[in-house]
This record gives sequence, structure tokens and C-alpha cells, in this order.
Amino acid sequence: MSPSADQIATRCCIAGGGPAGMMLGYLLARAGVDVVILEKHADFLRDFRGDTIHPSTLEVLHELGLLDEFLKRPHQQLQRLVAQIDDFSVTIGDLSHLPTRCKFVAFMPQWDFLNFLVEAGRKFKTFRVIMNAEATDFIEVGGAVGGLRATGQNGALEIRADLVVAADGRHSILRERAGLEVQVLGAPIDVLWMRLSRNPATDPAQTLGRFRAGRFMVMLNREDYWQCAFVIPKGALEPLRARGLEAFRADIVTVAPFLADRVAELKSWDDIKLLSVAVDRLREWYRPGLLCIGDAAHAMSPIGGVGINLAIQDAVATANILSPGLERGPVSIDLLRAVQQRRMFPTRATQRMQILAQDRIVSPAIQSGAAPIRKLPFALGLLNRFPILRRIPARVIGMGFRPEHVRISRPSAS
Ligand SMILES: Cc1cc2nc3c(=O)[nH]c(=O)nc-3n(C[C@H](O)[C@H](O)[C@H](O)COP(=O)(O)OP(=O)(O)OC[C@H]3O[C@@H](n4cnc5c(N)ncnc54)[C@H](O)[C@@H]3O)c2cc1C
Repeated sequence: MSPSADQIATRCCIAGGGPAGMMLGYLLARAGVDVVILEKHADFLRDFRGDTIHPSTLEVLHELGLLDEFLKRPHQQLQRLVAQIDDFSVTIGDLSHLPTRCKFVAFMPQWDFLNFLVEAGRKFKTFRVIMNAEATDFIEVGGAVGGLRATGQNGALEIRADLVVAADGRHSILRERAGLEVQVLGAPIDVLWMRLSRNPATDPAQTLGRFRAGRFMVMLNREDYWQCAFVIPKGALEPLRARGLEAFRADIVTVAPFLADRVAELKSWDDIKLLSVAVDRLREWYRPGLLCIGDAAHAMSPIGGVGINLAIQDAVATANILSPGLERGPVSIDLLRAVQQRRMFPTRATQRMQILAQDRIVSPAIQSGAAPIRKLPFALGLLNRFPILRRIPARVIGMGFRPEHVRISRPSAS
């Protein structure tokens, strides 16, 4: 133990204040478990975050009594998932039939969602978030993980904990330190992330995906601007830059012609961020004293916009399984294994779906340089012909496989 480090003792220390870490922190604190969440950034205002809160996550918020408050925050609601493919519109999913309280995806910038969870968590005296605190390594106690070392705003931090949860995202330093084996499933795409202003009077409302002439862009309506995700083949940024910014602006206009009067807002390549996409998962999500959840256990592709939902579902399952024991002290390896067993099927099934979509639809379309309607995969054509089929993708995207429900009630004293 370093004599100069600030020392903290808690039941559970969570590394990472993303959707997985923040929701788990909230749920444990609500169950009366003392929890400390470390977030390496000073705030949540980063651009690489998804914005989608799915019906099953909204159901969890309802079960927690948070839904009404959440829906008062600025957001957009989307019931039909529509893609524009050349001049044809395809409704990929219709959420109006889901057996959930909210039959829509709520679009809210992720920093607003995370701030909402932090504010809700602060009502519990067992909830503590330390911003600007980066977990760097484990404290080992008798061959098990017994806490975390971190670098905080005022220097070194040591947090002793009965359980450490790695929720530090797809570049998780903790899963690497723990030597957990990663199965890389591959992602043939990357994403260029940028903003362009929105003209509410003339621009279309929300259309999620736009394919045209071999270009594919997802556009999120943030009222006064569009958050755009332009999908490129992996490693294609350098050739794109070599073609010049003007050619890239023309690519954007090809896929969304109404942006022609605004593409000049992209003044240099500094206005365009590369987000590298990864799809992988751990063979084992745990070792004694440590559990990985969310992208740290299984990095998700942006396809389907389901990664946040899966991260939240992991958090709910973890709290359901672990919080009764964790209130009293360390949890057994069997319980950590039980979390993985519960969540492995939805992870595998979701990643399989994403890999199918990226390898069979998105990647061939952007590699071939054209996505004419006659080449549309058979399944998309069926969705237009038989609208009832739209309920299947709606269920997979809106609720995911094996949706979780909050099983732990709040102790009456808190
Ligand atoms: C380009 C792109 C777009 C996406 N769009 C969507 C979308 O629209 N909808 C959707 O559902 N999913 C989307 N995803 C997937 C989604 O972002 C992830 O699946 C989801 O954010 C996982 O949540 P998480 O909490 O596990 O990890 P993260 O959201 O990555 O959160 C991890 C947190 O840990 C912090 N952290 C990292 N290291 C440390 C450390 N050492 N110490 C302390 N803190 C640390 C990070 O700052 C971060 O706040 C997208 C992914 C990509 C790549």
C-alpha cells in the first residue's frame, strides 16, 4: 500500500461511468450496497457515445420509478425504424406492437442520460462517483482482486473493495491487466463522426440510415444539428483523406442531398473524428474478486444501436444476482459465473446479428460502391411486402434477447 495514496474502502468499486457502470452503481446503491464509481473523464461530454435508449431500458427505468422524470428531459421518440436506400424507403422495424410500456426508442445524448443516472443515484448515501479518476491496476489480496489503484485529481487513489467491476468500455485496461482471454470477432467497418447543422423547416425528420451509391450514413436528429455517422471500410480513412475534403463533402451530399448548403461547415479533417469499431467478447468475464460487464466483456458494433441497451441489461442482471450477497461481503466465484451464464446468450445472439448485418449488408454495399435496390437483400424486400414481419427486427432491436427486469427491491431504511 502506498503511504501517499488516498485510501477508500467500499463493498464494490466500479471502473467506468458509462451506461453499464453507472446503471450498476445506481442499482447497487439503491439496494443498500456501498459503491464507488471511478470515471476517468471530468464529464460525460464526449462525442463517441450512442444516443439510443431502447424500450427495454425504458422498462427498467419504469421499474425503478424513474421513467416519468426521464421522459421530462429533452429527447426524441422514434417508433418506426426507417432506412433510405437509394430512392426507396424501407421500414426495418415497427415498435408499436412491443409488449413494453414505451413503444419507442428515446434519442437522448448519452451525456444527458448519464447525468440523469448520477443525479438519481445521489439520492442514496451509499452511491459515490469520483470523476477524473482513472483506474490503472488491481490491488491483489491473497490471489484475488481486492481493489483498484487509480490516478485521481489529487494524485494516487487506492480503493479496497470486496468486488471490482470492470465497466471501462471496449478498450478496457482492466480486462487486459486481468489477463482475460479475448475472442476477436472482427469488424470490417469504421465510422466517421461529425456534426452538421439542421434546418427544422426543410430537413426530413428522423431517418436513421441512408444508403446511396455505395455510401452509408446514419443521421441522429439533435434538434439544431445532425450527428452524422458516415460508415467506411476499415482502414479507409487515409485513402479518403488523400482524395481531399471536397470529395468527402461530395460523398455526404450524395447520400443526403439536403445537406448541400451545409457541408462547408466541415472546414478541416479536424471536424471529423474516426471511431474505430470492434466486436469481441471475453471467454471468461470474471476472476476471483473481479467481474467485467458491458463493452469491457463484449465490445459491440454500432449496428442496430443496441450496445447501450446490452450494457444496461448486464448491469441489471449483475445487481439481481450479486447485490444480496454483496451487502454482506465478498461474493463467490459461482455467483460471478452465474452473471456470465445469464448474459452470454444475449451477447452471442446480438453479436451474431450485428456480424451478419455488417458482413452481408453494410460492408458489401460500401465496398462495391453501389447499393441499388435490386441488390437489396431478400429479407429487406420482404419487410416492405409483409409489414407484420417488421415486428421481428423491432423486438430484437427494441427489447433484445432475454430482457432483464429489476428484481431487487429498495431497503425500507434508505
Ligand atoms: C461509433 C459507435 C457508435 C455507437 N452508437 C451506438 C448507439 O447509437 N446506440 C447504442 O446502443 N450503442 C452504440 N454503440 C455501442 C455503445 O457505445 C457501447 O456498446 C456502450 O457504450 C457500452 O457501454 P459501457 O458502459 O460498457 O462502455 P462505455 O460506454 O465505453 O463506457 C466506459 C466508460 O469507462 C470510462 N473509462 C475507460 N477506462 C477507464 C479507466 N481506466 N478508469 C475509469 N474510467 C474509465 C470511459 O471514459 C467511459 O465513460 C456505438 C459504438 C460505436 C463504436
